[in-house]
Amino acid sequence: MMKTIGVIGGMSWESSAEYYRLLNRYAKAQLGGHHNACSLMLTVDFASIEADQRAGAWDRLGEQMAEAARRLERGGADLVMLATNTMHRVYEPIEAAIRIPFLHIADPTGEALRAAGVERVGLLGTRYTMEQTFYAGRLRERFGLDTLVPDDDERHDVHRIIYDELCHGVIDAQSRTIYQRAIDGMAARGAQAVILGCTEITLLIKQEDTSLPVFDTTALHAQRAVDWAIQNR
Ligand code: GLU
Repeated sequence: MMKTIGVIGGMSWESSAEYYRLLNRYAKAQLGGHHNACSLMLTVDFASIEADQRAGAWDRLGEQMAEAARRLERGGADLVMLATNTMHRVYEPIEAAIRIPFLHIADPTGEALRAAGVERVGLLGTRYTMEQTFYAGRLRERFGLDTLVPDDDERHDVHRIIYDELCHGVIDAQSRTIYQRAIDGMAARGAQAVILGCTEITLLIKQEDTSLPVFDTTALHAQRAVDWAIQNR
């Protein structure tokens, strides 16, 4: 039997819905017929998460995510994935809380970038993801990747659009242009590709919208989970 994928979702549910669709679509693409991905999703309430992020209450967030992972394990999940880049800031307490594997979102992304021969990559995400070390650091240490981010004003807009629009399901053409400009700016500074390092950006930016090859963390993460669930059958 296929393994059961446990997803910590709700950050925001707009991207969790995309995960759900992709997990099932990839399982069907590999196995055909009426195959689904076997999955459990635990949706947390994003209101308190978002407030704790702004308050810098990362310890409390880590405990909350660890508890969510434990609940998924108790519910029968064979693997836990966290359907947000930002909350990987606290992946350590999550990993420590469970006996089943935890699939870090940066790993399938880093591997895909290396496989494509990329060395310098632009990173779009929340301010936490773009400015703190937990994400770019892992890409450097594990995959030898050099990461670039947009300038301060652009980071402000990229962050604002995530929380004020994409997490509410608002897809706006002007915001797409802002993202395109940020990507072009990183390309001019030597980025060979761009990471959509927030799980909602895929709702706004597609490959055809950009001048650089796109590495979509939502798609790469979901694909890797399905591969794992099928290979470990
Ligand atoms: N889904 C987003 C991410 O991948 C941002 C929302 C959050 O803060 O978790 O980073």
